[in-house]
Amino acid sequence: MADGSRTAEMHRFYTDDQRALRETARRFAEGEILPRAAAIDRDDRFDRALYKGMADLGLFGICLREGAGGAGLDAVAACIAMEELARCSGAVANAFAIPVEAALFFDEHGQDRHKAMIPAILSGDLIPATAVSEADHGSDVASLTTKAVRDADGWVLDGAKAWVTLGGVADQIMVFARSADGPGHKAISCFLVEGSAEGVVRGKTEELLGMHGLEDCALTFTNVRLPGDAVMGPENGAFKMAMGNFNFSRLMMSAMALGMAQAAFEDATAYAKARRQFGQAIIGYQAVQFMLADMSTDIAAARLLIHHAARLYDAGHPIAKEAAQAKLFATDMATKHVSNALQIHGGNGYSREYRVERLFRDVRLAQIYEGTNQIQRLIIARQVAKEMA
Ligand SMILES: Cc1cc2nc3c(=O)[nH]c(=O)nc-3n(C[C@H](O)[C@H](O)[C@H](O)COP(=O)(O)OP(=O)(O)OC[C@H]3O[C@@H](n4cnc5c(N)ncnc54)[C@H](O)[C@@H]3O)c2cc1C
Repeated sequence: MADGSRTAEMHRFYTDDQRALRETARRFAEGEILPRAAAIDRDDRFDRALYKGMADLGLFGICLREGAGGAGLDAVAACIAMEELARCSGAVANAFAIPVEAALFFDEHGQDRHKAMIPAILSGDLIPATAVSEADHGSDVASLTTKAVRDADGWVLDGAKAWVTLGGVADQIMVFARSADGPGHKAISCFLVEGSAEGVVRGKTEELLGMHGLEDCALTFTNVRLPGDAVMGPENGAFKMAMGNFNFSRLMMSAMALGMAQAAFEDATAYAKARRQFGQAIIGYQAVQFMLADMSTDIAAARLLIHHAARLYDAGHPIAKEAAQAKLFATDMATKHVSNALQIHGGNGYSREYRVERLFRDVRLAQIYEGTNQIQRLIIARQVAKEMA
């Protein structure tokens, strides 16, 4: 699958490892994911074989340190792989992000018992999920009401979570719950909960606009008994952990949106060259040319912004502002240009026969989760105010 101008772009500056990874991810995405992407979307079923296939390639430990069983590559590499996977299916790429982030989280915050699960996450045998959001508490994470109360044997968990990606198939769920009295940002802990534990009920799979096949559902917890060592990271310190985690996950979501924009751009360019109206290919019309020119430019700009933030992350710098900027720009950019790519397809763009229709539905989520883009603007504005103080 040709990718147009990109071959002359920045990947010539990638390291050997990054270039090799890009080739591996691209080969798998084009060979295995792309032929199944439309069926995953249509059937709305989690594709366990593809998930396992990504694990078998070593992709889930991509930027986990070697000492913990990972490949020890950097966040730039993770973004490169993410872009390649998302270019062929946003939903499969979304599934890829979850074990990558979980492995890092388990390594950084897990107790020994949790760390012992990392090999199973990397092999795809243990599917993790993260449950922060609740029906009435989305952007306002600090107000969440799911509650864990300590007793003689450990903890008792009660409450409900909403929108848990892979919630329907998850073996272990990182549940963020109120664990003390006091302000939310100082009273939330992260508990590792077995998906099959007594008292855990998975809701029906949500019927979503796009991103099908991710078994997204609500989870309820009723009198769920947890051992004393279920807490990951410092007790009552999970709000900070979640916010820290967002830096990396926002890079991943940015790269996911970028991959979908890239796919839409490639499809729109090919379509514009082939489609003839008024006696000529529509790519000859300036109105179409300008849409493609803007797409190409904004895609390149998003890639630079994402990789810049990833490099800062790799160098150990705080990246709250840069990750938010990458997420904001890349996801707004992708939503706009996937829509323009659909426009270039005319009526065909509105048909399931063409991939751009799926991209249009899938990409929209990127502006909403991992913190809405309004929340990204708040974060950027806050950081800017601090920098200028
Ligand atoms: C498909 C899907 C998968 C998801 N997967 C997961 C998952 O795996 N785990 C998980 O924990 N969560 C998950 N989420 C939840 C997601 O993170 C939330 O939907 C998101 O954080 C927004 O919360 P909300 O939907 O409650 O919207 P709200 O917070 O109610 O926001 C509604 C609107 O108000 C705006 N708004 C809110 N507060 C402010 C403010 N202070 N200033 C300006 N504007 C504001 C928002 O930007 C938005 O436009 C998922 C969601 C979806 C749709």
